[in-house]
Amino acid sequence: MKKSMLAAFFEGPGKLTLKNIDTPKLIPGSALLQIKSCALCGSDIRTYFHGNKRVPVPQILGHEVSGEIVAVDKEVTTLKVGDRISLAADIPCNNCPYCKRGLTNCCKENLAVGYQIPGGFAQYMLLPPRLIDNGPWEKISSSLSYEVASLAEPLACCLNGMAKLDLKKEHSVLILGSGPIGIILGLLAKKEGVKEVILTDYSNQRLALAGKDFTLVNPDLVDIKKFIWEKTEGLGVDRILTACSDISSHELSLELISKQGVINFFGGLPKNSRFLNISSNFLHYNEVSLTGSHGCTPQQHKKAIELLEKGEIDLAPLITHTFPLKEIHQAFELAQQKTGLKVIIHPGI
Ligand SMILES: [Zn+2]
Ligand SMILES: [Zn+2]
Repeated sequence: MKKSMLAAFFEGPGKLTLKNIDTPKLIPGSALLQIKSCALCGSDIRTYFHGNKRVPVPQILGHEVSGEIVAVDKEVTTLKVGDRISLAADIPCNNCPYCKRGLTNCCKENLAVGYQIPGGFAQYMLLPPRLIDNGPWEKISSSLSYEVASLAEPLACCLNGMAKLDLKKEHSVLILGSGPIGIILGLLAKKEGVKEVILTDYSNQRLALAGKDFTLVNPDLVDIKKFIWEKTEGLGVDRILTACSDISSHELSLELISKQGVINFFGGLPKNSRFLNISSNFLHYNEVSLTGSHGCTPQQHKKAIELLEKGEIDLAPLITHTFPLKEIHQAFELAQQKTGLKVIIHPGI
């Protein structure tokens, strides 16, 4: 273990500074993780460009993390040096009414890795006692790569989104946005054996990366409303997930949903986005349900690791770019351009 480490500090919108700082020291009940892989999330990109009131500055972002335990305080019995683990973001307090009902991603404290707690865009990360005691972390086998294991967090968030849909085999599913989240949601819908999964994106390059399992539509080239209406014999789509941070996807979903359809607003929006204008009579007469989803629980993270370990979901094809930590600025710029899919940072020790 090195005495000092490289870390990328977010200091305000558009400002990210690489610094050499002392490697964190163990405190009672903690462990030290050597980061092996930290993936860029859409929320990291939004925070980098727009800021986030949950993130005090300066802060180390990054919550899609995997690595190896390199030091453990004597009070910790659940981890040992050499363990390979994957983290997720939302750390339950296990005390609030939501946590007591198992809804830990809605925890009143809303504590998360890479938000209030220094995250994974660094060479080492101190795992505080609450994270060790309450999760979310999972040990991974040596056959699961660190890169793929760092994608367990977005997979777990997608499991949370899918849980809102009451999905049935006869359903058609539309996903607006074919970035990494759109594709993961699509893979999960396919796994449930639904009739059809339609993915949309304004980038043909991204649609091409989504693979052949989906019906792919570019709304710039095809009239999406006409397309959906013809495909569904004028009924609309049964289930819609928005997987992009643009209010227009939320508005469009209301125009494409069937009666008794369920929409999940999966993608968060920048804080200055305009509000959604909905006729409540539309929801009333069409019995449409609007749902949201955010984050994941330790149980969903565990399930995500199981799916990856068993090969039931393969996320390796989603990794299109890797950068060393010292090139994190280029990584954010590339991720913002949305030409590839998942961008991974290797801390490079
Ligand atoms: Zn994420
Ligand atoms: Zn709580």
